[in-house]
Amino acid sequence: MSFDKILDQKRPKEILQKTLEHNRLASGYLFTGAEGVGKEALAIEFAKAVFCTSEGTKPCNTCSGCRRVGNFNHPDLIFIFPKPKTASVNNEREILDSLSKNPYLRKRPWASPGISINQIRELRRVSTLKPMEGHRVVIIAEADKMTVEAENALLKLLEEPPPSMHLVLTSARPNVLLPTIISRCQEIRFGLISDQEIEETLIREKQISPEQARLISKISQGSYRRAMELAEEDLAGRREKAVELVRGCLRDNLSKFSLIEKTIAAYDKRSVKELLSLMLIWFRDALILASDENEKELLQEKVINLDQLETLQKFVTAFRQMNFEETFSEIERSIELIDRNVQLNLILIVLFTRLQKIISHKG
Ligand SMILES: [Zn+2]
Repeated sequence: MSFDKILDQKRPKEILQKTLEHNRLASGYLFTGAEGVGKEALAIEFAKAVFCTSEGTKPCNTCSGCRRVGNFNHPDLIFIFPKPKTASVNNEREILDSLSKNPYLRKRPWASPGISINQIRELRRVSTLKPMEGHRVVIIAEADKMTVEAENALLKLLEEPPPSMHLVLTSARPNVLLPTIISRCQEIRFGLISDQEIEETLIREKQISPEQARLISKISQGSYRRAMELAEEDLAGRREKAVELVRGCLRDNLSKFSLIEKTIAAYDKRSVKELLSLMLIWFRDALILASDENEKELLQEKVINLDQLETLQKFVTAFRQMNFEETFSEIERSIELIDRNVQLNLILIVLFTRLQKIISHKG
């Protein structure tokens, strides 16, 4: 199996592999799935395979076709991504270079960029020309950022695609796209990357300590891009904050409310979600330490906050009788509610109040 640079995503890889083997490339693909799971990375590997001249496994990553795709210097590869109208050619090159270095971590320097009608007009102009090397691969990253005009222009292209052209749209929010665009593409769904794969890759490629890698893999929620960002952030500080939140649940209402207010002012939605994941990990570790001696010995190595054993132990001694299962489901439910756009302070007030009851209820 080639595409071995791509983490997990067995099914998408198999589907593309088969199309390539039988030389039955579709004119439009739509890669869907959460952010940071490798949609753009696999689109690039797919383009390499299309232009690869090796006799063996494709992409070989050494032939001129593969290398020119990898550097975004192939004349028949077009990579379109959201940008502001003011972006210069240099700006664009910088983004492509970042992808070339790490296909999971495209630079995103702009606040709310879009894909404009002009970008799609230019694509339509180029698509009337013959490709230099037989095929043309067009990747449209974050296709859901197209304006309505851009979408309609793309639709015209999809309705009568030049035979040698293969479009790959990627999107984490395909429901925003015109249904007529979706129906003209073959959808390939990407799953989340497993914690284990993220953990192992961080250790192998980013020289991150096993303990750190494990913690990051548990909070990155299946996104390798997020995992790499977290590796650059102050994780210790975040964990401290999460423990502060656990303690905060046990305080009086006034301090609870002020802690919640402070948290929301300092952290955005995604970060609050990650703080809740860290809380979940904290309680999970506490559960291990609260289990009976035999079990504890077996499980101890599974504790993630290994450097916090003493604090964890104190917590467990004080609250050994708490209902861990209820705690997990309350926190998990709150994480889900954040995804459903329920107000953050409401979620946290309900969560803290419930946790207080669960934690201080002694059997
Ligand atoms: Zn090659």
